[in-house]
Parts: sequence; structure tokens; C-alpha cells
Amino acid sequence: MIPYSRQEIGADDIRAVVKTLKSPYLTQGPKIKEFEDALRKYTGAKYCVAFNSGTAALHGAYFAAGFKKGDEVIVPALTFAATGNAALYVGAKPVFVDVDNETGNINVLAAAKKITKRTKGIIAVDFAGRPADLDGVRRLARGHNIILIEDAAQALGATYKNRKVGTLADMTMFSFHPVKSITTGEGGAILTNDRSYHEKLIMFRSHGLTKDPKKLKDKTHAAWHQEMQLLGYNYRLTDIQAALGVNQMKKLDRFINARRAAAARYFKLFEGVRGVTLPTHEGLGDSAWHLFVVHIEAQIRDAVFTKLRTAGIGVQVHYLPVYLHPYYAGLGYRKGQCPNAERFSFSALSIPLFPRITPEEQKFVVRKLTSIMQSYGKKG
Ligand SMILES: *Cc1c(COP(=O)(O)O)cnc(C)c1O
Repeated sequence: MIPYSRQEIGADDIRAVVKTLKSPYLTQGPKIKEFEDALRKYTGAKYCVAFNSGTAALHGAYFAAGFKKGDEVIVPALTFAATGNAALYVGAKPVFVDVDNETGNINVLAAAKKITKRTKGIIAVDFAGRPADLDGVRRLARGHNIILIEDAAQALGATYKNRKVGTLADMTMFSFHPVKSITTGEGGAILTNDRSYHEKLIMFRSHGLTKDPKKLKDKTHAAWHQEMQLLGYNYRLTDIQAALGVNQMKKLDRFINARRAAAARYFKLFEGVRGVTLPTHEGLGDSAWHLFVVHIEAQIRDAVFTKLRTAGIGVQVHYLPVYLHPYYAGLGYRKGQCPNAERFSFSALSIPLFPRITPEEQKFVVRKLTSIMQSYGKKG
């Protein structure tokens, strides 16, 4: 099976992990800061807090932003469920907004219409690794004094107007799940330039505890004293994972270039193929190319999906609009709210794309898909 995505682990990664396994610290050691520093340097952000998943990182960001019961958070409908779930974790209400047909990214005009007195935050998701209209959403957020969080889980390594993703929102989240730009097994991080967000995130990650002498409420205690000042979690990344992350960061640009080259190859190979709508060419060199999402007529998409799987091609669908999950239906969300996201979702097909995919594998994917489409009467 050619998977839709897979991690890239080398002997150097394995050596780095083994070295940490033999060190005094498996967790809460020096590798965490080293990994955070690597992410800060790469993106140019002032602060970085690593978490044990991208989802935990989002939870931290929504908490640090102060989203709470009674607040509304605008979330694009076409995303992984976690982007909406994190609003529910803090008691806020996710308000789903429609996306652009071409990119699957948040539609800024539609978002503007969703703003109410209760809106406290807006989330931009960089779908498939292509940065959203970040200038547009930032302008909207600033104009209404609401907090902008970028779910860049898929976009580490992407650039927006010649700037690396990571400093373009109030807080930016990355994920290090194996299918993402780099991996730590599970893992995530928040990047920010804001000191007070940074301080909250640090505490939130570890039970809400602080040892910082400046912050202690009770200063009469001995050196061992630490205080729990907010309700946090254990969302810490291990040093074992961070060691992997540090080594993966050295190869990030190589991974992204390989993804871009593979995407460019798909554009060539699909030339003249009927019935397959390709993702927009725009930003070919800016996107992190987390996914290569083509569109197939909705009536036959599922059948094409099954035929490709049977042929050993690990296709996927990204995503069911979040509000169509049964859990959200139970909260009262209904079909039809975001027609573009629904149309996008029901015709979408993610075909294999990862750094080490070979031209032969790509040719095989395109050949198979072409012959399936021909069997439906779409002549090339
Ligand atoms: C992967 C992903 C997440 C969740 O990250 P995890 O590290 O898997 O918890 C959230 N949002 C988007 C858009 C993602 O792609």
C-alpha cells in the first residue's frame, strides 16, 4: 500500500533518540528547550511552548486566550475536529464558518458576518499546508479586538508573503504527528510573541504549577515550594520525543522541498486528465504541501476511493466538516450551514504525498486514477 502520508525517520533520528534514552532525563530535561529554541529560530517567534500533542497545544492556546463559557470562537468548518473540540474543552462555543472553494481555507467575508458581541477569537487553519489569508483574518480580528489563533498543524515550513508561518497570528499551533511536516511521534507546540500568553501556556502544560519566585503568592516558604495557581494538565512532551524533534528540525527544509517537488510532479502528470480537478497552483512554492487534495465528482467519489484503496493506493478524505460529526449534531449543528465546505468535502480525495514518494509511485497513482476515471466515461 502506498500510504497517503508517512514519516521520514533516518538513522540519525534513531541515534538522537537513543542518546536521550541513555541520558539522565527522559522528561523535563534539556531537550525540550532545545526543541523549542529550534522552532523559535526557524519561525522567528519570541516564545515557544512544546506540548504532547497538537490538540493539547490548541487547548493551551484557547485557554491562554481566555476563551470561556459564553464566548464564541469562529472556526473554519473544513478542519480536523480538534480545532473545534478545543473550544468545547474551555466551555466556549465554536461558530463554524465557510471556506473558499479553491483553497479550503477560511473565507474572510463569511467570517466577518459571523462576528457578534460574544466573539472572542477567530481560528485560521492552513488547510493542506497552504497558509490562509492571514492578512485578511488579522485585519478582521484587529478591527473587532478579537484574538487570532492559527492552526498551522499542517503548515510548519510554509511561507506567507515571504515570511515563515509562526509569527503571523497571536498564537500559532504546530503538530508533530507522523503525517505532519516533522514528527515527534505525538507532539505539538504554540509559538507566540506575547509574554503573558507564554507564561500561561507554561503553567497550563504542567498542572498550573509555578516555581517562579516573582509569581509565588506565598513568599514565606522554603526552596521546594511551588504553587498551583490555575487548573492545568499534564501536557508535557518527553525529552525522548524532543530529541527526535530537534533532529527532525534539521531536515525540515529538505522535507518541504521534497513535498513541493512531488506536488509539482503531480501537476505535470495530471495534465490533460479529465474528471480530476487539481488543487490550485497558486502558492506552489509557499505551501508546506501536507496534502495533495484532488476533487472528483461527488456522486462517484466514494466508489473511486474504494477502487484506489483496492489497487493499493492509500487515499484519504480531508475532512468531513466538523459540525457534521454526530457529536456536533447532538449539540444542534445542522447540515447546510457551510455549503462550500460541504461541497469541498464530498468531492475531496487526498492522494499520496510525502517526502520520499518516488516518481514511479506517483505515476502509478496517476495512471490508476486516470483509468478509473476513463471507466466512468471521462476520456483523457
Ligand atoms: C493534526 C491536526 C490537529 C491535531 O494535532 P494532533 O497533534 O494530532 O493532536 C489539529 N488541527 C489540524 C488542522 C490538524 O491537521
